[in-house]
Amino acid sequence: MPTESAFLLAGLLFIAAALGYVFAKFGDTDDEDVSAEKLNADYMKGLNYVLNEESDRAVEVFTRMAELDDEALETHFALGSLFRKRGEVDRAIRVHQNLIARPTLSRAQKAQAEAALAEDFLSAGLFDRAESMFLTLCDSPQFRLRALERLRRIYEVTRDWERAVEISREYDKLKAKNSGAGEPTAHVAHYYCEMAEEAWRQKDTRKAQAMLKQAESVKRPTVRTTLVRADFLDDAGEPGAAIPLYRQVIEAAPDLLVEVLPRLAASHRAAGTPDELNGYLHTLIERDEGSAAAIAMSVVRDQTIENPEALNALQRFLGNDPTLSRLVDVDRIERADEAERRSIIHEIRHALRDIVTVRPAYFCRECGYACLVMQWQCPGCHAWESIRPVVKINLVSGT
Ligand SMILES: [Zn+2]
Repeated sequence: MPTESAFLLAGLLFIAAALGYVFAKFGDTDDEDVSAEKLNADYMKGLNYVLNEESDRAVEVFTRMAELDDEALETHFALGSLFRKRGEVDRAIRVHQNLIARPTLSRAQKAQAEAALAEDFLSAGLFDRAESMFLTLCDSPQFRLRALERLRRIYEVTRDWERAVEISREYDKLKAKNSGAGEPTAHVAHYYCEMAEEAWRQKDTRKAQAMLKQAESVKRPTVRTTLVRADFLDDAGEPGAAIPLYRQVIEAAPDLLVEVLPRLAASHRAAGTPDELNGYLHTLIERDEGSAAAIAMSVVRDQTIENPEALNALQRFLGNDPTLSRLVDVDRIERADEAERRSIIHEIRHALRDIVTVRPAYFCRECGYACLVMQWQCPGCHAWESIRPVVKINLVSGT
């Protein structure tokens, strides 16, 4: 079965071939000889190999075609894309540089070759060279959106958040213009949060507050902004002010409960109001039984949480989990007096912590990427705010 990326590449190659025909037919070159025949049997054979993930054979076909007809641009584009996909970026770069050097290229064909070369540089991690090419491509109406998207990616990788903000705003503007409406992406808020957190770590409080204010003022806010605000308050010795903000995050994104509860509990401890937390947890569980599992998971991860309601949630979680309920004597816990019950729960959570700390605690909702620590951008698919805590205790390795 061809994979999604094979389909994508075949689609791109097909478009490249079609563009080759259109450029030749209607472009600024006088090359009238190029026609629909360019989409010939060999080319389709090459595409077929791409779809069947037989890249060696595809390269063989396209190389032969390129040797036979040096003028067939689409064949060279196909070869270049294939080399890049196979990780042979040096070869891809050579193919695309040779294409750009051709004096007979139309403006559109040149832009297409430059876009391909910029992709090669990006794949090779040559960010400076990719950046300068994509900046030039911003002038091409055909490639502007893609160039802005790639530049945004480059500034994310290099953590140049100020430039990322600038480019992301342009990207949103163009996207909205192209589609008639469209919401801005949440990227800008994240970039400001990154700058705020960085400044806070460096004890530059004034800059951190200024960046956070910017994050709060963007059109499309993110729960992260509220969370960062709460963290700053707690860190600055104002846990009482942080508490309502942590709750706000939980209300807006209940699937972050595992992540936020330890911070909320710490703020309540620092503010001397643990009973209030108990009442809040009770309300959460009453409203949604699913919250109990997330609270139980937090209790396992953060052994300093001692609220009775949170420990009850763990006990209930043990009874409801089909695997755990067979390992743990739930009836014994229920029959035990309060002191003994607490001691058993503590033992269990200690043992469970050893299991969960060696398993990925977070996963990406978009691509399934699993990781041990919370990240706001997925390293796998680069989506923002797609990573969520795992709310299941996996006893079997690899599940
Ligand atoms: Zn992902």
